[in-house]
Amino acid sequence: MRIRVPDYYEKFHCLARECPHTCCEKWEVVIDAETAHRYLETSGSLGERLRAALRRDEDGVFCFSLDGGRCPFLEESGLCEIHCQLGEAATSITCREHPRFIEEYGPFREITLSASCPAANSLLLETEKPLTFLEWDTAEPEEPGDDWLPFLLPLRNRMLAVLQDRSKPLRVRLRSFLTLAENAQVLLDADIPEELPRMAVEWCFGTKAEGAAVLSGGLEFLGTLEELDPDWKDLLKQAETADPVPVSENLLDRIAVYVAFRYLLKTVNDGDLLSRAELCVFAVLVIERLAAVCGLAEALRRFSCEIEHSNENLHALQAAFRRGKLEKHEQLFQ
Ligand code: SF4
Repeated sequence: MRIRVPDYYEKFHCLARECPHTCCEKWEVVIDAETAHRYLETSGSLGERLRAALRRDEDGVFCFSLDGGRCPFLEESGLCEIHCQLGEAATSITCREHPRFIEEYGPFREITLSASCPAANSLLLETEKPLTFLEWDTAEPEEPGDDWLPFLLPLRNRMLAVLQDRSKPLRVRLRSFLTLAENAQVLLDADIPEELPRMAVEWCFGTKAEGAAVLSGGLEFLGTLEELDPDWKDLLKQAETADPVPVSENLLDRIAVYVAFRYLLKTVNDGDLLSRAELCVFAVLVIERLAAVCGLAEALRRFSCEIEHSNENLHALQAAFRRGKLEKHEQLFQ
């Protein structure tokens, strides 16, 4: 099986006790069934505490009740008590995988590192060079992929190349990226995905799009979604009126490519490319806006925490784009 990762992937190391925003706080800690059953049989006082903390959420999924907003096994030192006492293998899949987002496509697997994690966030923003991806093959057998995958893959490559064409201003690239997605969506809706690779090759850049800014309606809409951190809405409010600050276009295109790489290929699941492309552009514009209040790295981290880690919020945003409730392209680029 082929594995594909961002070029900084191997440099990632968890900051553990040095982490300023540990992932063991605020989020419900989901425990996979196999790990939960192991905890039910763990002996000693840790076993008793594991069983006391374990509960099922409204969907019947095992999780730990947070204690004062923290995982009950997060020690004052910032280390994980389960990891320290029973070893990493005893922690849940969620804990072992974080901050990795892992997408299985059948013939290949793509892994990204969530920008909500301070260590991964720094790696993404540590250089202005275009973001590239590394690939290697493993002995793991391939699974069959979705029929649309061979057509969507070259299209996604072209869309990433559009975002990275630094001969043009970022706004022009973002607009062209959306236009390409719009044209591709027509082919997908007509069920002729085999035309996508040809279109990806032949498609030409547009030149419009000056002065793009996320409109206040977009920030307001984000404020109506489920929030992780109580001060998220304040941050959005401040961003509505803050004077914009200059932000490196090179760093913004790294963010755009990070988001596009993670989401565009998921179109194999439902045929909806356009709202994912809109999500990418929206994310870049919102993060740029938030950067005026808290700086680029923190803006990216907060957006990732609030949106990327909430399927509910991601789906709400995509649905809003589909319904035309959020700014459509023309307004985004006024
Ligand atoms: S957020 Fe990242 S660096 Fe911090 S504890 Fe979690 S994985 Fe480690």
